[in-house]
Amino acid sequence: MSDQEVELVKMVVNQDVCIGAGQCEMLEEETFLVDDDTVVAGVIGTGLLPMDRAQKVIGACPTQAISISAGDSGSAEEE
Ligand code: SF4
Repeated sequence: MSDQEVELVKMVVNQDVCIGAGQCEMLEEETFLVDDDTVVAGVIGTGLLPMDRAQKVIGACPTQAISISAGDSGSAEEE
């Protein structure tokens, strides 16, 4: 058993660069869904993933369309 605190981060998809390759959906089917009509991925459900899984899915996207929403962690501020 592990009591380690898991940091959850909120995922976002930049739909302008998504090519609908589906890697995100394959890895995290409860968080990403590729729309059949637009062939673009979107975030579904809570959009929250543990940091390690978030990094994995970000790395798997061929067009770097996936990122972590800055709003949720409160640490990254890019404007
Ligand atoms: S892995 Fe990237 S390009 Fe492929 S569907 Fe997901 S967000 Fe779009």
